[in-house]
Amino acid sequence: MARPIIAIVGRPNVGKSTIFNRIIGDRLAIVEDRPGVTRDRLYGIGEWLNQSFSVIDTGGIEIDDEDAILKSVRVQAELAIEEADVIIFMVDAKAGVTPSDEEVAQLLFRSKKPVVLAVNKVDNLQRQDEIYEFYSLGFGDPIAISGSHGIGIGDMLEAACAHFPDKKDEEYGEEVIKFALIGRPNVGKSSLTNAILGEERVIVSDIAGTTRDAIDTPFERDGQKYVIIDTAGMRKRGKVYENTEKYSVMRAMKAIERADVILIVIDGHEGIIEQDKHIAGYAHEAGKAAIFVVNKWDIVDKDDKTMHQFTQKIRDHFLFMTYAPVVFVSAKTTQRLHKLLPVVMQVAENHALRIQTHVLNDVVSDAVAYNPPPTDKGKRLRINYATQVAVKPPVFVLFVNEPELMHFSYERYLDNRIRAAFGFEGTPIRILSRRKS
Ligand code: GDP
Ligand code: GDP
Repeated sequence: MARPIIAIVGRPNVGKSTIFNRIIGDRLAIVEDRPGVTRDRLYGIGEWLNQSFSVIDTGGIEIDDEDAILKSVRVQAELAIEEADVIIFMVDAKAGVTPSDEEVAQLLFRSKKPVVLAVNKVDNLQRQDEIYEFYSLGFGDPIAISGSHGIGIGDMLEAACAHFPDKKDEEYGEEVIKFALIGRPNVGKSSLTNAILGEERVIVSDIAGTTRDAIDTPFERDGQKYVIIDTAGMRKRGKVYENTEKYSVMRAMKAIERADVILIVIDGHEGIIEQDKHIAGYAHEAGKAAIFVVNKWDIVDKDDKTMHQFTQKIRDHFLFMTYAPVVFVSAKTTQRLHKLLPVVMQVAENHALRIQTHVLNDVVSDAVAYNPPPTDKGKRLRINYATQVAVKPPVFVLFVNEPELMHFSYERYLDNRIRAAFGFEGTPIRILSRRKS
């Protein structure tokens, strides 16, 4: 089931990033391997009353133009309208209703997406009456919030969650492998798509999904059904903002949510840049299976060590994704392209793999016997029982005496042991500790 997407839209300085950071909270820590990266984040996973969703901060899209601000506001709102299920329209209580707010409101009106109007910077209750003027924007009851004081965030999320689409049946059968190609502009995503489809091009049909703006391409190879997940947003856009990072991230994220396997396309000729890391991080966080596809290998100067060296570079840059296999291809010459789909199939299988409880417990007990958990202030973690509670990605719950005694390094050790026993190449796995009841 794809996570619903919330987009936070509003003119600059109303507090979008402040709220965004509050919503995703400490969840962002995992993928950032250096401090300071969090400022550039645009996309994260949030949760409200057990409902998980993804959230986009549409802030700060910058475009060179005379009336840059209006233009950028317009662009981000358009993108959000296209990709999101619910929009949080954020305004500033201190500033009151401004022409830019009205501009955004016009755009949101024309969309059919549900809008929650949030009035930020209502830092104390005396300010409560300042929200009334925002009724004039025409989006019903404004919700008073304060990003700096953490007021009203729950009410706002509750209102947003109430608009999520009903869970509906999966669009494709369980047996169909859904994958998406993501990556910054010009790495070769479209070329790869065409090359993968090859002669099949004639028999594939482009299905324009009526409800999800999907333009997916189903096809079959060696008896396995696949679908390349794409979104309308990827094809309709003009050139102006196409090359901004924020644009590629936004158009990638919906595809990420809908797919099971993400092909992270990297330009082998240009090498790895920061933007590649952000995009890969989103796939990891969303819990999707992932493969690094190094494209344009035809124009790389190489000897027998180059592939190994490039793989090492990927490992150094994507520390949190050592599970993802690396495949070197050329969309242009179709070199080694035949190796790709078998890898897609394998990681899809691992992503959906379910381990029998008794086998899992054997592995965990062996791991504990071989390397017992360290003690902390005289107390030792005891693991009573392990069970897998979910697939896509696989999630394991360990029932323990005291969850606080589970340390990151020990969890990492168990992660390694579970991987050593069962493979899981290409998929993130999660380990949760719960107090045994
Ligand atoms: P964005 O441009 O919409 O992403 O806005 P930011 O999140 O960067 O916030 C703009 C400014 O408003 C920053 O100086 C924030 O510290 C401030 N700010 C954000 N939320 C609040 C709030 O609830 N109350 C007050 N007083 N200031 C806030
Ligand atoms: P996208 O923006 O990621 O969809 O990238 P495109 O598929 O449009 O490719 C961008 C450019 O890279 C085009 O000029 C392609 O012809 C070129 N290109 C794509 N794949 C390869 C490849 O494997 N080798 C070489 N030499 N060029 C490629």
